[in-house]
Amino acid sequence: MINIAVLPGDGIGPEVTREAVECLRLLSARRNLGLHFTEHDFGGVAIDHHGTPLPEATLHACLAADAVLLGAVGGDQWNDCPVRPEAGLLEIRQQLGLYANLRPVKVMQGGQWSPLRSDVAAGSDILVVRELTGGIYYGEHRLAPGEASDLCTYTREQVERVAHVAFKAARARSGKVTQVDKANVLATSKLWRSTVTDVARNYPDVALDHLYVDACAMAVVTEPRRFDVVLTENLFGDILSDLLSVIGGSIGLLGSASLGNGGPGLFEPIHGSAPQIAGLNIANPAGAIASAAMMLDELGLGDGGAVLHEALEATLMAGCRTPDLGGDASTSGFGEEVRDRLRVRS
Ligand code: ATP
Ligand code: MG
Repeated sequence: MINIAVLPGDGIGPEVTREAVECLRLLSARRNLGLHFTEHDFGGVAIDHHGTPLPEATLHACLAADAVLLGAVGGDQWNDCPVRPEAGLLEIRQQLGLYANLRPVKVMQGGQWSPLRSDVAAGSDILVVRELTGGIYYGEHRLAPGEASDLCTYTREQVERVAHVAFKAARARSGKVTQVDKANVLATSKLWRSTVTDVARNYPDVALDHLYVDACAMAVVTEPRRFDVVLTENLFGDILSDLLSVIGGSIGLLGSASLGNGGPGLFEPIHGSAPQIAGLNIANPAGAIASAAMMLDELGLGDGGAVLHEALEATLMAGCRTPDLGGDASTSGFGEEVRDRLRVRS
């Protein structure tokens, strides 16, 4: 049995997560995957029920699970709480020891949903692998009158472990890693470059190149097709992954995975709780379903992940779209269309 801890969270989180879980249930029944789901309070809803965004019971369930599927957290009603829903997210990432964030961006449908020119965007298929535990966000922050500083630190071990994630991912894709840094200026970037170059020797079948982050920012807009896996540190990854997330067309399309050392990974759509559209059955569940497919990939359940990715893509290609993509499909209607395709494929 494979235990999945489901944390629907706040806003549109429960609606989109429900569709993803229903897809997983169907696939599990058809293919005997043995998936078992338990639901737990997390985020704002957990603050309301338990006074904390990450209750003990939720944490224990996640630590004991094989994977965690998350919706979204947050909303204005918790703005004045002493602990914010988002604090639960930081805490659970830390507790699960997650150090690599994976965000795939694929431009579908000939690129016509992309804000980029369709002939530039069409066919782009990029995976950003972002380091999550080091760099400037976790360095010493100093504040003195008229002066401030943030310290950026990385260790070789931190770079090595995330580099392995990127090279392994590249093997299952087009076999190319682009490591992004600012090695002409930053000491940490020089460490990144030499460490990643060393790690690359273990993957002779994967091509490695390096790019400065400023050049990379230009290139992802002018020639996104040249990239396969983009590997980078925490701050650069934060910025580049948001930049890349818009070239697909809607934030509602994209899933993500956060991975650690063999423990349960955390899988979630990249969008937030979108409280304005919560409860209206119009949120796009594609990002949540894509996250579920990434979870199946990571759990190593044969081609279950690939089948779910395909069913999702086929649904979009067939013109079933929620309002964020200019369509009139409902959240549940879209999920049902994906499941119809799963029934045919599995
Ligand atoms: P957070 O602080 O949680 O990141 P946010 O307001 O920055 O929240 P989102 O909640 O992701 O970001 O919402 C940004 C915009 O995208 C909103 O206008 C929202 O309606 C829209 N949006 C986000 N997710 C979806 C979705 N799954 N389907 C449709 N629209 C979405
Ligand atoms: Mg946001």
